[in-house]
Amino acid sequence: MSWPLFIDETADCPTRFSTMPGQFRYPTSGTGPAVLRLQEKGIGAVLLFGIPARKDPEASESYNPEGVIQEGVRRIKATAPGVLVITDVCSCEYTDHGHCGIIGEGPCGMDLQNDPSLELMARIAVSHAQAGADFVAPSCMLDGMVAVIRQALDDEGFHDTGIISYSTKFASALYGPFREAAGSGYQFGDRSTYQIHPGNAREAIRESEIDALEGADILMVKPGGFYLDLVASIRELGLPVAVYQVSGEYAMIKAAAMNGWIDEKNVVMESLICAKRAGADLIITYYAAEAAGWLDEEQ
Ligand SMILES: [Zn+2]
Repeated sequence: MSWPLFIDETADCPTRFSTMPGQFRYPTSGTGPAVLRLQEKGIGAVLLFGIPARKDPEASESYNPEGVIQEGVRRIKATAPGVLVITDVCSCEYTDHGHCGIIGEGPCGMDLQNDPSLELMARIAVSHAQAGADFVAPSCMLDGMVAVIRQALDDEGFHDTGIISYSTKFASALYGPFREAAGSGYQFGDRSTYQIHPGNAREAIRESEIDALEGADILMVKPGGFYLDLVASIRELGLPVAVYQVSGEYAMIKAAAMNGWIDEKNVVMESLICAKRAGADLIITYYAAEAAGWLDEEQ
């Protein structure tokens, strides 16, 4: 299991998310201790998201060597060197318009520009590798994203830095609580032009196939619970598959549990077991720490 960790450059102490009770944004100084506590519970991997102090149209803080993620990686590696560090590679948390790359005039109005955005993703990935990330996880669903990042990492000598591609990412309504958490809502449009429609299984498999050919080390299906059929199909491509149990899935379980309508532990464990059954090799979940504790109790 892997735990998504939000590092907030503007925070002085851990801040609660109103849409995700039990989850926090951590100040940069708090990342090392937070990950150490997680490691003590038996969780060996974290997926980092950054909330920068400054946003601009070019997302220039995203590849700053002293940026929030780069600093967070160094602190985690200094405090809990055994924990695998995965970094989200995208720019939507760093752009003032909230889109996952560089925006320009397209045939149907303002839209994401694929090629200039690819250059940006390569630059972000290399800066994360330089800081010590074990895996970079590009999440923007741009065409050619994995190939460009693999090339850029190899060119800089980071042959051992792996790529977990958000290869099959649906345009889902389940990301709402995350956007509040990461401050990555958008000013116009949505992401449906570059994420997969929930009803489109063939495209979902093809997108993962392309990323596998481009050199991804691990593929990903996001969200998790509604899409486990795709986990099983994509697992057959031969690469390990990660499943991301997203913020909306967490929020639904948490809200029902807080109202006493379901048994939180049993529902969470069932959701994780079912992701395993579908073929997940890695489960990214906001419940990582609690689930590890529950597993421990059972032994
Ligand atoms: Zn993004």
